[in-house]
Amino acid sequence: MSDQSLDVSQLDPQTIAVRAGTWRSEMGEHSEAVFLTSSYVFRNAAEAAARFSGAAHGHVYSRVSNPGVAMFEERLAAIEGAERCLATASGMSAIMSAIMGLLSAGDHIVASRSLFGSTMQLLSQILPRFGVQVSFVPPADNDAWRAALQPNTRLLFVESPSNPQIELSDIAALAEVAHTAGAWLMVDNSFCSPALQRPLALGADLVVYSATKYLDGQGRVLGGAILGNRSLLTTIHTFLRTAGATLSPFNAWVLLKGLETLSLRMQAHSANAAFVARWLAQQPSVLSVKYPGLSSHPQHELAMRQQSSGGAMIAFEVQGGREAAWKLIDSTRLISITANLGDTRTTITHPATTTHGRITAEQRAAAGVSDGMLRLAVGLEAPKDICVDLARGLSAG
Ligand SMILES: *Cc1c(COP(=O)(O)O)cnc(C)c1O
Repeated sequence: MSDQSLDVSQLDPQTIAVRAGTWRSEMGEHSEAVFLTSSYVFRNAAEAAARFSGAAHGHVYSRVSNPGVAMFEERLAAIEGAERCLATASGMSAIMSAIMGLLSAGDHIVASRSLFGSTMQLLSQILPRFGVQVSFVPPADNDAWRAALQPNTRLLFVESPSNPQIELSDIAALAEVAHTAGAWLMVDNSFCSPALQRPLALGADLVVYSATKYLDGQGRVLGGAILGNRSLLTTIHTFLRTAGATLSPFNAWVLLKGLETLSLRMQAHSANAAFVARWLAQQPSVLSVKYPGLSSHPQHELAMRQQSSGGAMIAFEVQGGREAAWKLIDSTRLISITANLGDTRTTITHPATTTHGRITAEQRAAAGVSDGMLRLAVGLEAPKDICVDLARGLSAG
């Protein structure tokens, strides 16, 4: 029995995050149950037939749907203000399923040239093998997006803020560009989460997440999600249920509980990151700091219009190139050296030799990934302790 009495349109997002999408079995469990089952038993042949045909509501097989996965989908859709959400096995499978579900050979995508490394590989190396061509443009240049449109452009795809150099795109403006061309705008909102940015409300047609990042927020599971209107998501589900990039029921449960603390965590992440960014900006061996919450960020005004705060991600460049960047990383004792982000624990990465190491030097330069650049995903430790840890590496430079 679901919480039928809940009219989410009347509730604050924080309440929605804790309460929406709760489905209780006859046991009356308060915390949601985990539905570790691959299939479902039917009372008789007629019921099996009715469920398979869609005439009767109910689950048939967990690649297609699962009660726990459905709870996560319903709760995230309510937080995002989306008609429908589909959960996926990872962020990459969310991106792949949305594209493979909607596009065909001969279609064209315009994408930001500054994207998560695996996303860049998918778009630049894998999709062309299936006849989908992709043009890459600077994320903040609206005219470049417009100029890249072709008669067969079906999709515009952007991350904002971008990974790893924290560049913003004007989501409302890009939605307009997409719609004048009869294309959809898809936004990878993994860095902000719905707690800080709501792309659908700004005009985007689709939002994708690596739920592995802030939706879980504690570095435990992989997961992903696609959100948008019912019609687009129904088309994508036809691909997803067949291709099988489904979220595991256990991971769905972990993510469902993660959503309950999402907005509190994002507020704390943002406050900590703002503290660390201000401190970094004062260090003589730091050449530049990119953080949307600082007025020195070239798109600070857009950030304040489009996001409710600066988020957790900081890019900064140290004097002395790769050698100095590696020295700083190796001097840390608290901060984790890991390519992951969106954790309670602060993480640091050298993008040029890790996440962006497999793309060409030319693509790296276009994406603004320099040898002295470091990406910091600020966690929930006391910010002064994070600064002490960084200071150790800076002085070692
Ligand atoms: C991590 C990440 C992805 C990929 O997600 P996985 O869950 O690792 O598959 C996609 N986009 C962004 C912005 C990410 O940070």
